Amino acid sequence: MTARLSSTFSRVRDDRAAFATAAIILCAVVLIITGFLSTKIAEQEARVSLTVREREGLAYTTRIIRTVRTLRALRDRLEFEGSDSSAERKAVSQALDDLGSFDGVSGRPFELSKRVAVLEGQWENVPRGPGAVEAVGAVLETASNLSDIASDRSSLVADPDGSTAALIDAYSTQLPIVARRIDDAKLVLYRAESSGTLSDSDRVAAATLTGESRQAYSSAQGEFENAARTLGDEPKLDEQFASVGASLDRFASIIDHTRDPVTARTRARSLRSVADSVIGSVETAYDELGATIGGRLDDRHAAEMRLLLGLRGGLVLSIALGAALLVGLAASMRRRHVRALARQRRDLERLEAELAQQRTLEALAVTEAHFRAAFERSSIGVAILDRDGNVLRTNSRMHRMMESIDAESVGAKAVDYGRLFAGEIESFTTEVYRGASDAWFEATVSLVRDDDHAPRFAISMLKDVTERKKLADRFRHEATHDALSGLPNRACFNEHVGSSLGTTPPGVRAVLFIDIDEFKLVNDSFGHAVGDRVIIWCAEQLRSSVNPGDFVARLGGDEFAAFITGRDREHVEETARRICDALSETLVLDGRDIFVAASIGIAFVAESYASVEEILRDADTAMYSAKTGGQQRYAVFDRSMREDVSRRVAVSVQLRRALERNQFHLVYQPVVSLKTGIIDSFEVLLRWEHPDLGFVSPVEFIPLAEELGLIVPIGRFVLDRACQQFAQWKRDFPNQRPRCISVNTSVREIAQNDFVDSVRETLDRHGIEPAELVLEVTESTVLASGLSSSGPLERLKAIGVGLAIDDFGTGFSSLRYLQQFPFDVLKIDRSFVGGEDGNLASEAIVTMLLSLAEAVGVTVTAEGVETAEQARRLRELGCAEVQGYYFGRPTRANDVPEVFYRVSELPPKAIAS
Ligand code: C2E
Ligand code: CA
Ligand code: CA
Repeated sequence: MTARLSSTFSRVRDDRAAFATAAIILCAVVLIITGFLSTKIAEQEARVSLTVREREGLAYTTRIIRTVRTLRALRDRLEFEGSDSSAERKAVSQALDDLGSFDGVSGRPFELSKRVAVLEGQWENVPRGPGAVEAVGAVLETASNLSDIASDRSSLVADPDGSTAALIDAYSTQLPIVARRIDDAKLVLYRAESSGTLSDSDRVAAATLTGESRQAYSSAQGEFENAARTLGDEPKLDEQFASVGASLDRFASIIDHTRDPVTARTRARSLRSVADSVIGSVETAYDELGATIGGRLDDRHAAEMRLLLGLRGGLVLSIALGAALLVGLAASMRRRHVRALARQRRDLERLEAELAQQRTLEALAVTEAHFRAAFERSSIGVAILDRDGNVLRTNSRMHRMMESIDAESVGAKAVDYGRLFAGEIESFTTEVYRGASDAWFEATVSLVRDDDHAPRFAISMLKDVTERKKLADRFRHEATHDALSGLPNRACFNEHVGSSLGTTPPGVRAVLFIDIDEFKLVNDSFGHAVGDRVIIWCAEQLRSSVNPGDFVARLGGDEFAAFITGRDREHVEETARRICDALSETLVLDGRDIFVAASIGIAFVAESYASVEEILRDADTAMYSAKTGGQQRYAVFDRSMREDVSRRVAVSVQLRRALERNQFHLVYQPVVSLKTGIIDSFEVLLRWEHPDLGFVSPVEFIPLAEELGLIVPIGRFVLDRACQQFAQWKRDFPNQRPRCISVNTSVREIAQNDFVDSVRETLDRHGIEPAELVLEVTESTVLASGLSSSGPLERLKAIGVGLAIDDFGTGFSSLRYLQQFPFDVLKIDRSFVGGEDGNLASEAIVTMLLSLAEAVGVTVTAEGVETAEQARRLRELGCAEVQGYYFGRPTRANDVPEVFYRVSELPPKAIAS
């Protein structure tokens, strides 16, 4: 690559060198051509200037010849005709002026100018009249000499072929000689004619002159012939010269044949005319020859000028050509350079592209390596899939995660998979469950497109989300379930029941509100750990009591709810009873019996209900009713209960102020011994007279007071007043006073830490012996409270206070229970005693309870004895004591003495055996 680059660069360098060489060569060639042309031009210019000078010389010679001719004409007139013609003189002056003013000859020789000046001087001194001929002859002589010089001058330059020079020589030298010698000869002859004698010397002179002329002519002719040979034409000149030769020949023969002086004289005249014709033909030849030579010179000059111009043009052309070539070379070099640069740029670009591609490939290789590493070592399972969901490739993690890898296990069976390749979505996430390993996976499937953006394949990334899923399930479960019992919570219950409210399945549906009686006491007495176990147990009992389709939940604390579906109402109530029975079973915890009881309220689902809360509220109301009313442990809601609730609210509000407003008072009901027939003791009962509510039964307000936590101060008030009253009686009736007083006590009071001490203090304060006090505790509550033998009851027993178990028979009526607690008295609930017909309501139960009490060794008091018959029968059955309206209603303390007497007046058989 680098080599290619450098070759590109060197090519550019080579181009530059080639350009320089070509330019130098071109310059040299142009220089040589220019030099050559310049030389040629110089030569040509020289030649032209010579030609010009030749033409000038010719023109000058022509003027001199013309001057000589006019001078000769003047002399001839003066010599032969004796007249002084002013016309000839004028012509001479004009010719001389012409000659003098001629300055066409460049560098006209000084000598020539001097001679012209001498000639002009001589001309000016030529006199008129005598002496004029001689003077003119002198001027002619000078002018003729000038002609020689001029001819020398005009023949200065030899033309290349010499023809023109020969012609010039003939024209300016030989022909003038011809004319002059003939002229001289004519003059000799004329003089001889004038003198009348032709001497031999004259004749010889004339002959000599003629001979010389003939010689000059021959020479001129020779020159001409040379020129004609060279030139190959000039026939006209030939004719001219031929006529001159003929005239000369005639002249010569006349001279030769004229020996006689007379003849000679006459002949001299004719000779003169011959001479004139010779001169005339010479002069004609002059003109012709001058014109010919001039034409030739003009032609030559023109030719030379053409050549010169051509040469100059060639020079300019060659320079221009050279310049153009240089420019062209430069341009072509530049073009080449530009092309080379472009090529270079292209090369560079291609190289860069190749380099980039190489880099990309390297980067790709690295990326691929990274990708492969990432792919293989990924903690996420990765699979590559085709359009049909076929698994093309997987990483090792995927294999570790999945027992088998198929389309389903990597999410390719998801509904969105098709949409992915349809281009509707770029990725989706789905959950995959593998039953074999009970594992959940989250597959994120993404589309991979090719360069054309067309869907190519999909990548599925699999994460094990089992933990997360289980955690989420746990959270969901925790959010909807009670942690302790594992039962669904209130929210869950509401949701479950709520979702079924809209439907109307056959049969009936009911919500059961289940409340564990006195559960708080269990917690208080045994601690929360035991309380928790009791709740768990209750939940289990509940669950096992309902039918499969039913739904049980813990609402909180000791409250549970059940959603029951049944054929009819009776079916639901049956379930409620079953629940009651299950919860009444004895629970043994750490070797200790714990007795639990529950109150259940039932609300049947009706269309009038808008929400689960409303149903629950009514079930709660019914539950409360069950708790406070009679034997039944459950109650079905009816509208009147709602009134009870509002009544309860009103009563609760007033109850809080009852104590401080002094609205309570005590009443006393006698307890009569069936053996002696006398009053053994009095049971103290609380009465509440409210200004607006009127008389409120303890059956109604005692549970409320317990609920509201008011039972403790109320209980103290009762005990204090009762003790005070008993102390009063002890003082007032020292001999007839009852053996003791019975005070009803709520388990919640006994559960108070300071209860025993408080009782002790009260007894001491009023001066009452512990044995003179019996505390009555209701059977059901004492069982539920789980008060233990080591507890307050035992301690009360220890200090001598009597203990009675009240309302016996309504609770568990367990022998074990009786043995477990230190009770002295068992009070049979009045529901077993007061029958409608005046007999015992349930003699069997009473009998059973009596034998039970006997077995354990406790005294029995039957409550609610209203008739003599009941009293009689109880005595027969062996009941020790009785209590009831028959013997005396609860009365105010003031009326107690009267009661004493009335009781003692009862029929003996009803009392004593
Ligand atoms: P209890 O302890 O069983 O009291 C006896 C109840 O039976 C009294 O009702 C009494 O008036 C009623 N009674 C007595 N003889 C007959 C009879 O021959 N026939 C009928 N039908 N009833 C008879 P009372 O006074 O309404 O008391 C109801 C309950 O209220 C008591 O039942 C007792 O559990 C509770 N109670 C009353 N006073 C107090 C109190 O001072 N403290 C506590 N903790 N509870 C009290
Ligand atoms: Ca009682
Ligand atoms: Ca009772």
